[in-house]
Amino acid sequence: MSKDKTNSKNWRSATKMVRGGTRRSGFDETSEAIFLTSGYVYETAEEAESAFKGELERFIYSRYHNPTVAMFEERMALLEGAGFCFGTSSGMAAVYAALASGLKAGDRIVSARALFGSCHYIVAEELPRFGIETEFVDGTDLEQWRTALSKPAAAVFLETPSNPALEVIDIAAVSELAHGAGARVVIDNVFATPVLQKPLQLGADVVVYSATKHIDGQGRTMGGVVLTNDKDYVEDLLMPFLRHTGPSLSPFNAWTLLKGLETIDLRVRRMSENALKVAGALESIGGVKRVIYPGLASHPQHALAMSQMDNCGSTIVAFNVAGGRDDAFKVLNGLNIIDISNNLGDAKSMVTHPATTTHRRLSDEERAEIGIGDGLIRLSVGLEDTDDLIEDLTQALK
Ligand SMILES: *Cc1c(COP(=O)(O)O)cnc(C)c1O
Repeated sequence: MSKDKTNSKNWRSATKMVRGGTRRSGFDETSEAIFLTSGYVYETAEEAESAFKGELERFIYSRYHNPTVAMFEERMALLEGAGFCFGTSSGMAAVYAALASGLKAGDRIVSARALFGSCHYIVAEELPRFGIETEFVDGTDLEQWRTALSKPAAAVFLETPSNPALEVIDIAAVSELAHGAGARVVIDNVFATPVLQKPLQLGADVVVYSATKHIDGQGRTMGGVVLTNDKDYVEDLLMPFLRHTGPSLSPFNAWTLLKGLETIDLRVRRMSENALKVAGALESIGGVKRVIYPGLASHPQHALAMSQMDNCGSTIVAFNVAGGRDDAFKVLNGLNIIDISNNLGDAKSMVTHPATTTHRRLSDEERAEIGIGDGLIRLSVGLEDTDDLIEDLTQALK
């Protein structure tokens, strides 16, 4: 007899992260099973027919759904408070599916200008190839959103805090303006994580993640997620797009991500505490010109960040070194513990130089507008002892 799990929506967050979505196979395993299968067998031809007609709910093909992927999707949906969740092969697959499925030629999208490099490419280059118009605004300036959304728009896209300069955008205020313009609000919630920020509860319509980052959290796996409560969008647009274009999440990766979710609350909260300590220390290390961290009172949107992100500043710190590219490279090359890597949200601390890596494709003017100078370093703070991290940074900045 299977125990009653129908109450899982009422579980507290930490319980959902450990147990949400778990369904045991016939073998009573403790850890969720990995169903590495592409197809499923039918008892009869009639059964196959009714499955394809949609009369019989069952697994049909792993491009559509898979038991391990379904467990991960259910756990994420519980965590986010979403009615629908779809795993994808990467964060970019999730971003592209969430936007492209809901747009058509002639539509207009209003986007924050401070975006992860590949997200910027999608809204600035890829979607316009299909006759979709993109207008960029300074995400922190509500007046710019108001002006841009005084005309009808089909979608609004933003990330907060932004990668890498950590601009914080008011999700509730922008969502209200967007809905007035008829736009679907899509939020890239990677930096805030599902632990600290719940965009759907703040008025957003769709949330996307790169699960590669904090959801895995241990640098093992690529994955992405799209979450929403909008049934019409799911049934008419998103689900057909995903099923027929095929950016499916592999069952093995879904299993890794399920394991990641079991510790995400602990990891993200500790990493945020560590980030606050490291950011505070950086403010008093010579050679650092400016520290950008939403958890510090010096951050321009500190109060908004605290109210929107459960009183945490998130796991990423950005800082400017005096001088330019060569000085920043010297700091990166001088680190002994912290790795140089463009990945983030990992248990291991990592630094990157956005101007020459993740945001290399932007023009000099575009980078300047969103605060990515040649002296900017992005630090993803991990789970190491902060005394070791601060010592490592201090010696590298000498
Ligand atoms: C990494 C990242 C993505 C893309 O995710 P992938 O899993 O690398 O495809 C999208 N948005 C943000 C903010 C990211 O940091």
